[in-house]
Amino acid sequence: MSNRRTFAIISHPDAGKTTLTEKLLLSGGAIHLAGEVKARGQARRARSDWMKIEQQRGISVTSSVMTFAREFDGQGEITFNLLDTPGHEDFSEDTYRTLTAVDSAVMVIDAAKGIEPQTRKLFEVCRMRNVPIITFINKVDREGRPGFELLDEVADALALDVSPQGWPLGMGGLFQGVLDFSTGAVARPEGPSREFLGTREADAPIPAELAEEIELAQGGYPEFDEVAYRSGDLTPVYWGSALKNFGVEELIGAIARHAPPPRPQPADGGAIGPERPDVTGFIFKVQANMDPQHRDRIAFMRMVSGTFRRGMKLVPSGLGKPIAVHSPILFFAQDRELADTAEAGDIIGIPNHGTLRVGDSLSERNDVRFTGLPNFAPEILRRVALVDPTKTKQLRKALDDLSEEGVIQVFYPEIGAQWIVGVVGQLQLEVLVSRLEAEYKVAAMLEPSPFATARWIKGPVEAQEAFAGFNRANLARDRDGDMVFMAKSPWDIGYQQEKNPELTFSATKER
Ligand code: GDP
Repeated sequence: MSNRRTFAIISHPDAGKTTLTEKLLLSGGAIHLAGEVKARGQARRARSDWMKIEQQRGISVTSSVMTFAREFDGQGEITFNLLDTPGHEDFSEDTYRTLTAVDSAVMVIDAAKGIEPQTRKLFEVCRMRNVPIITFINKVDREGRPGFELLDEVADALALDVSPQGWPLGMGGLFQGVLDFSTGAVARPEGPSREFLGTREADAPIPAELAEEIELAQGGYPEFDEVAYRSGDLTPVYWGSALKNFGVEELIGAIARHAPPPRPQPADGGAIGPERPDVTGFIFKVQANMDPQHRDRIAFMRMVSGTFRRGMKLVPSGLGKPIAVHSPILFFAQDRELADTAEAGDIIGIPNHGTLRVGDSLSERNDVRFTGLPNFAPEILRRVALVDPTKTKQLRKALDDLSEEGVIQVFYPEIGAQWIVGVVGQLQLEVLVSRLEAEYKVAAMLEPSPFATARWIKGPVEAQEAFAGFNRANLARDRDGDMVFMAKSPWDIGYQQEKNPELTFSATKER
């Protein structure tokens, strides 16, 4: 069985993702991060979490993929691929798509705050793909909400069975450690972290009111069930403090033991799994490179099957003819010997000049189309107005490029000349304007658009044409030429759906 665990951390900003990531990396021993992918526009990207670690803590992790490995008793060496999900308040499709490339996720919750909006949004994306989730309730070294309240909130808000794997003996000033249900032992902070042990004697017996709590926690929730976990119906819950490096061992052990190895990925004609011998994979992210003189990009490919070797020829579904992958970026840590190969579950960075697009499938024989890498209906739509109207051509090129990269979506209305861009988060608009100016020398303004959202129209051709005949003013084409209904309100969509039962108005589009 594969020793790969490819996962992401989902959380609301400030819950402790960066701190936990750092501890996970450190626990993996020597950290070596190959092929750093630095972004253009350092200032803007400085918001990225990895930059944050790098700047504040002097560790070099400017990367979208972090690979680390370590030994576990009875399991041998496990290799972890941790994928960055940018954790802005306000996120982009990038974040969603990264979650299509992982096999599991760790959900970090701030013990004082519980489920926050971003946690919920990211969780919903995981649910769409049945991505199994391990919960880490962080910051138990501080006064938090009662454990039962937190567990019940996860269960209710996310409609998920929760299975606590331990119990915090007090929080904040009263914290004494975490009782591990599987061993019955109390894990207590060691070394300098003992200082947060609170006022009670560390070895004092568990007081009666806590004993009662523990009994309730052990009896009142479902037992851990790996099948239910792996199908996304149950989450095991761990408690700890990323800051004090407490509970992180238990967490990483749980990922090693329970998190699924590379899972089969949905494809036309049936899912493809790691047992397939030849190389297949899909592009889930494209990132512009640092050098502003070149249009170099790094396409991130999630390996679904096979063993990749440097120089191998692969056929991207969008191109139809093979490309030789001579200088892949392999994120593999530590062992240089291994740095020339990658296997199912791993991520490869492929430098290219725009040939590879998000959603492309790659295979040795051009016989695979992975599905389920959706575009999401934009929640914010803006008209793009040029400051200098002679720059139309440059603008079109820029919008096409940036939509390929997944920075924005672009819609070309059937009537009228003003192009519309769509995003799921405000930050994407800022990125758009600054990149138009810096990279394409196009000054543009974003103006309100009359539309609230967009829906991809699917259904029989005649029905589509009939619909188009009546609704020309509300139609646009996306980057691929597919027909999109531009809706002024959610009510609009409901109304059209009722009037056109043979069409579907889809909030996602799969390439
Ligand atoms: P992110 O935005 O989710 O990446 O959160 P960070 O890792 O940057 O943490 C946000 C803040 O919470 C920082 O000030 C951290 O030092 C603090 N923090 C993170 N983990 C813990 C923890 O376990 N206990 C306490 N007390 N503070 C923490």
